[in-house]
Amino acid sequence: MSDSSKAVVLNGTLTDSQARISPDVKQILTGLLKEATVAVQDEYFYLVDFGPDVRPQRHTVSHDLFCTCGLEQDCVAVTAVKKYLKDGGEPASTPESGYYPVNVI
Ligand SMILES: [Zn+2]
Repeated sequence: MSDSSKAVVLNGTLTDSQARISPDVKQILTGLLKEATVAVQDEYFYLVDFGPDVRPQRHTVSHDLFCTCGLEQDCVAVTAVKKYLKDGGEPASTPESGYYPVNVI
């Protein structure tokens, strides 16, 4: 039932910085944020799920707010995590200095 023609692909044109200069991009990303779910994963990461109409559907964001999808801190998944934390969501743990956890999906 999922219509693949309306899938949204998160790439370099749909980023947080583009949303600041393009009302169209901002509108798309605001819509995605409404559907996004955020959960802490593996203690140090956030798993952001935008639902089946978004590619990639799931994004993994580190405790220091970098997305592993390649858009890094410019990814809308990072915005979703910030919103989650602002709304009182449980934060991921911060690793001790010198320890860099690696997320394996
Ligand atoms: Zn991402």
